Amino acid sequence: MDLKRIIFLLITNIPMNLENMLSPWAKNVSPSPTLAVDAKAKELKAAGEDVCGFGAGEPDFDTPSFIKEAGAKALAEGMTKYAPAGGIPALRNALAQQYHDLGVLKEVNPAQIVVSPGGKYSCYLAILATCGPGDEVLIPAPYWVSYPEMVKLAGATPKFVFAGDDQGFKVSAQQIKEALSPQTKLVILNSPSNPTGCLYSQAEMEEIVALACSKDFLLMSDEIYEYLLYDGAEHYRPASFGDDARDRVITVSGFSKTFSMTGWRLGSLVANPTIAKAVASLQSQTTSNATTFAQYGALAAVENWEKAMEAVTEMLVHFDRRRLKLLEGLQGIDGVSCLRAQGAFYLFPNVSSFGLSSEEFSARLLEEEKVAAVSGHAFGADGYVRLSYATSDDIIEKGLTRIKSFCERL
Ligand SMILES: *Cc1c(COP(=O)(O)O)cnc(C)c1O
Repeated sequence: MDLKRIIFLLITNIPMNLENMLSPWAKNVSPSPTLAVDAKAKELKAAGEDVCGFGAGEPDFDTPSFIKEAGAKALAEGMTKYAPAGGIPALRNALAQQYHDLGVLKEVNPAQIVVSPGGKYSCYLAILATCGPGDEVLIPAPYWVSYPEMVKLAGATPKFVFAGDDQGFKVSAQQIKEALSPQTKLVILNSPSNPTGCLYSQAEMEEIVALACSKDFLLMSDEIYEYLLYDGAEHYRPASFGDDARDRVITVSGFSKTFSMTGWRLGSLVANPTIAKAVASLQSQTTSNATTFAQYGALAAVENWEKAMEAVTEMLVHFDRRRLKLLEGLQGIDGVSCLRAQGAFYLFPNVSSFGLSSEEFSARLLEEEKVAAVSGHAFGADGYVRLSYATSDDIIEKGLTRIKSFCERL
């Protein structure tokens, strides 16, 4: 072998530090713990275990058939090309009209709507478009697991304000006020909430919006569960509270939860023209448009709203029955307390009386009783676990029996 070859072999065989290949963003981001619990439960199921899964973060119904048909028709008709980055014009127009009717938009201006591949991406772009290094973002806890990670990916700093079950899992305007700093750029609201299912009242929301206006920060209102409401509860859209609010609030929603369309990947965002334009630009350089033919499915839902809402009402009948079954069951277990949440499809019982961390609690519950629930720790709230009732009545009944016997043993 010649010398050159030997040197080549020497320098190419120095073991590489693989960790050094990763960026600071990749090193700091944690994988979604809710998806992880679901994956673990599915794995156990596949191995033949009889698992009661309460981990799901998605409705267990199929997409209403007329929506599927519209998507399939668009696919058959060749809607298989790129679309404008912000969404197909017909869908942006229809959403602009709808948000105008809801008071979120002052004018029917489709340029203020951006359709994205999922509400999750809408949230990320809203944060990326408004926050950067040096900015602080206030996140009320318990929070949706992705918010802090998204804030960090934008180079900004997440700060948390906590509200336990004693305050209905809702932070007050006063708490936000005390947590503000000159660096506070954005406050994130999520009502109805994942993981708690709780909703802010009009008065509570108004106080927070007034604070945003007087203290000059932005709000991101994640309203993905806006139509999943029970007990006659009402959803309030902070962007509809006046002209200043319309400029300050970025409203995020989507089709996943309302119409059981999680796999379609379709989210929406409404913002003032400056932010909406920035969001569309960021999207055009990262993912381009949301899947073109999928948007025609969503369009069918928005254009046939009454029919779409009938399908939602039907799903809500089942969700509500399961909610009450799970709530009653949990409240009947010694040492467990649970608020009567009025939105989404989650309950967030307090299990702190057992003296375990919520991670130990959920890990042992899965190990010993084959019940999958997500630890409250993942949502910034130790002492609680999240149970999704987007599952069958049978699973709920069987799961409750197991949770009860688990708690009795502790
Ligand atoms: C599910 C969810 C979303 C977005 O879901 P997509 O499937 O990406 O549309 C956003 N926020 C919260 C709180 C959610 O639970």
